[in-house]
Amino acid sequence: ASKKKVSRIRKLDTLVINRIAAGEIIHRPSNALKELLENSLDAGSTQIQVLSKDGGMKMLQIQDNGSGIHKDDLPLLCERFTTSKIQKYEDLETIQTYGFRGEALASISHVSHLTVVTKTRDSVCAYRAKYSDGKLTGSKLGENAEPKQCAANDGTQIIVEDLFYNIPYRRQALKKTSEEYSRILDVVGKYAVHNAGVAMSCRKLGNKVSGSDLQTNVGSSKLEVIQQVYGRSVSSNLFEFSKDLSTTNLGVKINGYASGTNVEQRKTTLLLFINNRLVENSQIKSNIEQLYSSTLPRSPKPFIYLSLLIKPQYVDVNVHPTKKEVHFLNQDLIINEIVNSIQDILFKNNDSQVLSLQN
Ligand code: ADP
Ligand code: MG
Repeated sequence: ASKKKVSRIRKLDTLVINRIAAGEIIHRPSNALKELLENSLDAGSTQIQVLSKDGGMKMLQIQDNGSGIHKDDLPLLCERFTTSKIQKYEDLETIQTYGFRGEALASISHVSHLTVVTKTRDSVCAYRAKYSDGKLTGSKLGENAEPKQCAANDGTQIIVEDLFYNIPYRRQALKKTSEEYSRILDVVGKYAVHNAGVAMSCRKLGNKVSGSDLQTNVGSSKLEVIQQVYGRSVSSNLFEFSKDLSTTNLGVKINGYASGTNVEQRKTTLLLFINNRLVENSQIKSNIEQLYSSTLPRSPKPFIYLSLLIKPQYVDVNVHPTKKEVHFLNQDLIINEIVNSIQDILFKNNDSQVLSLQN
């Protein structure tokens, strides 16, 4: 028999539960940014500006021109599991928004100092609110925590300061600010491509002179945004592919851009969106890489933008708190179709090197 003394079971304190949950969702500044960016897009924004200091660890700010948040919702805003996006579980089957868990702002408020400035179109003034551990808080000890009136444009500004101030080991694990900033830039760039037409920008605080590191315009096409973000050497060597299998049993619409032989990259760039969510899928990635290395001369590393619209009933978006993975039915068959579509376009394009392979 075990010599270990029996430990009694107790329910964890809510604060502890929420801080543990926050740690699962927000690993680093770029996770926080992804959540904030998705909220801005869910709010119907057409302009989104990101500002970062010290790789987002000192400060991460996002400003949008979306719907804004109703003043009376501000006390609830950062509570866990509070959302305006779904009401019942079945709503997940037809979800049209990025968000649904109502956990992002709550999580961020548990691991940083969070400030929200927001104004709806109908409101005469804007409101500024500060949060800590899910709740409204004053700026100084003893100060009234109520949201305060202020002047601001329509839309929402979220300011995240001192990320992981209360989780020292996580802050220490993220020492290199340049690495964190490049991850932020990567997320903004990928969303900018997928949401071409929405103007996005990203810059470091204090970098006003040298301008933004990324800037796209209202109404730009996908190719224009790819050029703005990844450069002309990429955008001018892309082929568009698409296949509509939405009425088949696969229930998927495939479309995207794939690079030909002329793009020189050190590693694969894959922008993968499934039902508009930026996700990762190693099986899709390795199958595409294999196509390139087996059919193209000099086995170039591909640049791929791939968007899959899958019948919502066939997709499970709720497999991971960060939503960076989704599961879908008929994965192998769908991947086959993707690879075939890209292969067709590589063979069809008038790149003589590819054509000569085919003959
Ligand atoms: P979720 O996105 O899953 O609903 P969040 O914690 O990310 O949960 O956000 C909580 C709620 O706050 C959202 O449902 C939305 O109503 C509101 N919200 C958050 N960010 C914005 C924003 N930028 N513009 C308008 N409303 C927002
Ligand atoms: Mg959200």
